[in-house]
Amino acid sequence: MPAARRSRAYPELDSVLITEAEIRRRVRQLGQQIRRDYAGEPITVIAIINGAILFVSDLMREIDNPMRLDCIRISSYRNKTKSSGRPRVIQSLTLDVRDRHVLLIDDILDTGKTLALVSRLVRKLRPASLRVCVLLDKKGRREVPFEADYVGFSIPNKFVVGYGLDFAERYRNLPCIGVLRPDLQVAGA
Ligand code: 5GP
Ligand code: MG
Repeated sequence: MPAARRSRAYPELDSVLITEAEIRRRVRQLGQQIRRDYAGEPITVIAIINGAILFVSDLMREIDNPMRLDCIRISSYRNKTKSSGRPRVIQSLTLDVRDRHVLLIDDILDTGKTLALVSRLVRKLRPASLRVCVLLDKKGRREVPFEADYVGFSIPNKFVVGYGLDFAERYRNLPCIGVLRPDLQVAGA
């Protein structure tokens, strides 16, 4: 992972961890790897929303396999910047995934609870295969064992925003990923 940089362009950030150009490059590489691995097979993408929206929309365009897209919405079980409790499905799948190659995509793998829950749910639907792709991985934070098949960047244990990731629903539209200024990590800031 690149060294953190302070940025005048994003005053809400303490530091930029991953620039827009670095994201673009890595998303392109992940797309190539996924294309190679699936060798022309049709893919059913399941995006965990809202966080994965920007990543999925960019990654999909790097993969020219026949593709279907479904979304699953998981309740935010986070209290401010820390997880607590258990994630819950609040809007489930609409496509039939039985005997399909499913690629499950999320923004970030943190404690592992969300992806463990959604993977378990998808496996029950008997897909032909299930792989998991995340843009970010905070390896040091796992509370349940979980590894993704594709990881964009491993990052340190810091609360990050941008490129789909929010704090209290804000900052999703930042084109880079960075650490939110501590004084903004309060409700209503
Ligand atoms: P997990 O269930 O693995 O603990 O967390 C997964 C979810 O928590 C992610 O989908 C994401 O929505 C949220 N999350 C975890 N770490 C961060 C972070 O650093 N920043 C933001 N904005 N969300 C996070
Ligand atoms: Mg999320």
